[in-house]
Amino acid sequence: MNVIESTALGKRYRRKWALRDCTLDIPGGHIVALVGPNGAGKTTLLTMAVGLTKPTEGGVTVLGGVPAGSPDALEGIAFVAQDAPLYRNLPVADMLRVARCLNRCWDQRRADDRLERLGIPPRQKVGELSGGQKAQLALTIALARRPGLLVLDEPLAALDPVARDDFMTSVVEAAREDDISVVLSSHVLAELERVATYLIVLVRGQVQVAGSVKDLLASHGAGLEEIALRHLRAGVPTTSGTDTAR
Ligand code: ATP
Repeated sequence: MNVIESTALGKRYRRKWALRDCTLDIPGGHIVALVGPNGAGKTTLLTMAVGLTKPTEGGVTVLGGVPAGSPDALEGIAFVAQDAPLYRNLPVADMLRVARCLNRCWDQRRADDRLERLGIPPRQKVGELSGGQKAQLALTIALARRPGLLVLDEPLAALDPVARDDFMTSVVEAAREDDISVVLSSHVLAELERVATYLIVLVRGQVQVAGSVKDLLASHGAGLEEIALRHLRAGVPTTSGTDTAR
């Protein structure tokens, strides 16, 4: 099953295309790294996949053919945006209560267990948590919804190296334990190299490369970081038939 499938997907803001002719089949069961320079169109692609942004042209389906933004799609996807919408003045436990009220599917036990494991006190105010703890709280809320697909837009941006490492370890564990697919955008190639099993490189609104890390390693003879850098620098499509987005 493809967790995201887009066909000639495009988004134009006034006269400028943020994303153009994006055709992708992202298979399930992966941790997908979406990389690209600032302004490449990563957030635009992700927000169209989760139904928050309407395409200008083309289409996108999720979770095996469900139209993006439809009720079934919204229920099956958890999205953590760049600035996770957390209420700073609420204690953590109340923040969870709010999230529970907003979501039909909610696993309170999963949320409580995660926070206990992470040592995040339920009575502490959200605004008093560290950046790493806030990111973990946002991830906990996303996972308590029991999604089939977890989409994270630059979750590592504000985190120090230890918090980054902890966060990515949590993502890998969650993907394995809950059997979910993950798509995350990030500029931190070293962290992605450690966890990603599928790579997409976007440059200037166009897909430069998309494929499983295993196949890319075989065809490029280099690690994920090196492959991503090559495509980011060149900004031209790969000549390898196995890893070019259709
Ligand atoms: P970054 O790594 O900096 O987060 P990105 O790859 O996520 O960048 P997008 O945020 O998708 O890139 O933006 C792609 C292009 O679309 C940029 O040129 C941006 O200025 C433009 N853009 C994005 N959102 C809007 C908007 N609401 N109105 C106008 N232009 C926009």
